[in-house]
Amino acid sequence: METKTETLTILGTGPAGLTAAIYSARANLNPLIIEGAQPGGQLTITSEVENYPGFVSPILGPDLMTAFRKQAERFGSRFLQGQIIKANLRQSPIILESSENIKIQTKALIIATGASAKWIGLPSEKRLLGKGVSSCATCDGFFFRNQDIAVVGGGDTALEEATFLTRFAKTVTVIHRREHLRASQIMQDKSFKNPKIKFIWDSAVEEILGEKEVTSIRLKNLKTNQIQELKIHGLFVAIGHEPNTHIFRDQLLCDPAGYIITEPGSTRTNMPGVFASGDVADHVYRQAITAAGTGCMAALDAEKYLGEHS
Ligand code: NAP
Repeated sequence: METKTETLTILGTGPAGLTAAIYSARANLNPLIIEGAQPGGQLTITSEVENYPGFVSPILGPDLMTAFRKQAERFGSRFLQGQIIKANLRQSPIILESSENIKIQTKALIIATGASAKWIGLPSEKRLLGKGVSSCATCDGFFFRNQDIAVVGGGDTALEEATFLTRFAKTVTVIHRREHLRASQIMQDKSFKNPKIKFIWDSAVEEILGEKEVTSIRLKNLKTNQIQELKIHGLFVAIGHEPNTHIFRDQLLCDPAGYIITEPGSTRTNMPGVFASGDVADHVYRQAITAAGTGCMAALDAEKYLGEHS
């Protein structure tokens, strides 16, 4: 196994990881950035970004992340493909092992691994993933032109996906496990007004049916236990996100949902030399700009730590 000895390693290439890269490379820390399972992060599966400051006109999510990366490269950031599958944070230097069979010894570590879409957890959901089951309307909506489809969830993401999908689909049925939506009022009003969006309340998806592709779903009303089958060709799951912290949870202080807990006003974790930024430590704001902001903080915190421990 190849071994690399590093000063600062950054995990993740979303807005948090790449901002940490820009700041730390500019501070001559020569960071090594591990790209992760989804290089560029969640913005690479969105379409137009309208609220990232500095852009008067909307910019495409992938284009924004390409610009972040080029800026990080300009200051000498180095990138490594793959993801970290094992970590020993208790040791100094910290030891990491990558999916590409590379061992990394690093003095400081910034975890910016983000969060991933949650799934319902049905075997049929896995089996039919990419065959009608999706978690990304902007990626897959196009395939459902003039078809009946459904979205699971009651938050802003679910309604945003449903609204976007009405561009293509004949009807979009939102299936929510309660009778009140969690989404913001403005999104609710917009969805209720859209003639293509219907709602099924108090219901859970019990089974996704179809051999080669999705043909229908079986729903259970959680109040009456009544079962109904809904004929659809696509099912979009939009039930929130889970932080990508599985390999750290036994070593870092995390909240019950697995988000890393940092010291107030800082990106320091409970382990010396380990910092966390972006969605991996934020279940509240979850915006590209806040992730970039905490990425900057993590680089400054790591720089200070390295200065004190050189
Ligand atoms: P969220 O607000 O956590 O909502 C998740 C939804 O999925 C909830 O309605 C929840 O039901 C439901 N759910 C969770 N687990 C489920 C399960 N196992 N089975 C069925 N349903 C399940 O997540 P989100 O919609 O992804 O939004 C995340 C954050 O990003 C929020 O702060 C949101 O405001 C923000 N956001 C903003 C925008 C925007 O401003 N344009 C767009 C997207 C997201 P319950 O309601 O019963 O818990």
